[in-house]
Amino acid sequence: MKAAVYHGIKDIRVEEIETPVCKKDEVRIKVNYCAICGTDLRTYFYGHKKVVPPAVIGHEITGTVDRIGSDVIYPEIKEGDRVTLVTSIGCGKCKMCGKGLYNLCPDTRAIGYFYPGGFAEYLIVPPDAVKQKAIIKLPNNTPMKEGSLIEPLSCVINGQNYLNIEKGDTVVIYGGGPIGFMHAALAMSSGASRVIMVDPAYERLEMFGKQFEGLILLDPKKTSIKDEVLRLTNDYGADVVITACPAKQAQTEGLEILGSKGRISMFGGLPRDNSVISIDSNIIHYKEISVFGSFASNRRDYIRAAELISEKKIDAGRFISSVLPLEKIVEGIEMVKSGDVLKCVIETGK
Ligand SMILES: [Zn+2]
Ligand SMILES: [Zn+2]
Repeated sequence: MKAAVYHGIKDIRVEEIETPVCKKDEVRIKVNYCAICGTDLRTYFYGHKKVVPPAVIGHEITGTVDRIGSDVIYPEIKEGDRVTLVTSIGCGKCKMCGKGLYNLCPDTRAIGYFYPGGFAEYLIVPPDAVKQKAIIKLPNNTPMKEGSLIEPLSCVINGQNYLNIEKGDTVVIYGGGPIGFMHAALAMSSGASRVIMVDPAYERLEMFGKQFEGLILLDPKKTSIKDEVLRLTNDYGADVVITACPAKQAQTEGLEILGSKGRISMFGGLPRDNSVISIDSNIIHYKEISVFGSFASNRRDYIRAAELISEKKIDAGRFISSVLPLEKIVEGIEMVKSGDVLKCVIETGK
């Protein structure tokens, strides 16, 4: 089969490799689309501790069930079904796995990192993933291409599960990448009356912001975000802040612009060696602020994401700026890095 093989930093080659054999307790998927994620970019440019070359990465996958091993008990799927895959696979033994929170398993093994991923014509769903029901059927009316956005949307849903966004809320999102815009679209669909997006790469924010109605876009280089949020909310402050970027400034300022009973999601992580921030904890105390984290997502978030896309409550097509064949994957990665596209989806086969 054809696969984009990651041989190391800045070295991905599209090659012919052995088509993986489906063992008794596995399921083989014929991949149709796999979207490029920010973490794929990081792996390509900087490496990733769980990706050991040679490896096939890619985890925002849609495909077709190609073969089901003879020992597999999975009545929800049959050969030929159109599916997506849950990325986080847990050890199956720890406390978090016991609760079905495989994303929080200390020994999590993700598809597209530890296990071979979607930038190839076929992939194997490993036995643990089969047991954890990581294969999810796409709703009938969801096109395969749009389905590749279920994974990133599921992460956004996991983040917003904690935030209780309601009618009338003012939501401020730091970061104008695809995840930031997905947060905006989801917050709108939950009834937020005002969604404000902040990004110092303002030209880019404006370029993509035009495709979504009703957003307020702010340039932190020119505008005091705090003053502007207070002005827009009659001095109350924001109800919800989401930091969808790896910036300390967003986390500290985000806390300062919240009103009473405000909620903040530190959705984007900070660089590993530079992740300590200093905050005025009295803000949290006196205003009864809730601070949440969020990492990856779980099965129920995928199911919700698939529903939102199929019901058109989230228009997945708007996020896809480019579709490229597998051969052009490096071009796709460069394109995503340049910031010229929101989502680039790789087509691995029809
Ligand atoms: Zn992703
Ligand atoms: Zn575990």
